[in-house]
Amino acid sequence: MSPTWITDIQHFLDPNGEIGELTPPTLHRALFWTEIIKVVTKTKNNNKPFDTSIRCIRRLKNKRCDGTIWAELFGETIRWVCDKCDNNGSLTGWQGTQWDQTKPAKTTKQQKLYSPEEFIEYFDDKEEKQGALRDDLLQLQVEYIKHLQKALSPYTAQLYGSVIPIFAHYLFLETNVQSIEEITKRMVGREFIRHWKNKTIGAEQNEQDIKTALLEFFWFLKKEKGITNDRIINVLCAR
Ligand SMILES: [Zn+2]
Repeated sequence: MSPTWITDIQHFLDPNGEIGELTPPTLHRALFWTEIIKVVTKTKNNNKPFDTSIRCIRRLKNKRCDGTIWAELFGETIRWVCDKCDNNGSLTGWQGTQWDQTKPAKTTKQQKLYSPEEFIEYFDDKEEKQGALRDDLLQLQVEYIKHLQKALSPYTAQLYGSVIPIFAHYLFLETNVQSIEEITKRMVGREFIRHWKNKTIGAEQNEQDIKTALLEFFWFLKKEKGITNDRIINVLCAR
């Protein structure tokens, strides 16, 4: 009997979203799992197992299994099973990773060029879908600064609080999220840091300040506003 691999891929990634330092057998499995994520999220199938053409990596009596992996997207979980042996498992935490193909990659090459009309239409559409979130975050910033002032100096409260408007605009411009609950770890990590570096010149906040500011903000949302995003809170608790 093969065990069922219940995998949260985030556990194998470093803070940059790359595969972390792993022992060779674990690395081998991590690469196998990321390959499954890539193929399944690309196929966009729902609840329909299909042949991924990925070869099983299980070794039986020192011989590699020659089965192939069948997989399906079941809600937020990818389920996979070998068609020869009973090697099987589930994958979570793949959303927003570099292997997640459900959203088009944001590389310069694939960026669409808009005509002026299309551009206006694009932003109107964005405004309609995401404008409310941006406005909510800008509102919440005011309360967040007041909240920080209870424990921190006005200077530090302002230092952290002033990260939020830039974060709100980042979410609006560079992501498709429409609610606080949809924000992913990457969006409070390296992707936002990259945006920050591009958009702010001579800002006083260093990378650590930015991360602290965001994570404390999510903590504030949970404690004071009852808005919970467990993915982000877990990052905060893991510190
Ligand atoms: Zn197998």
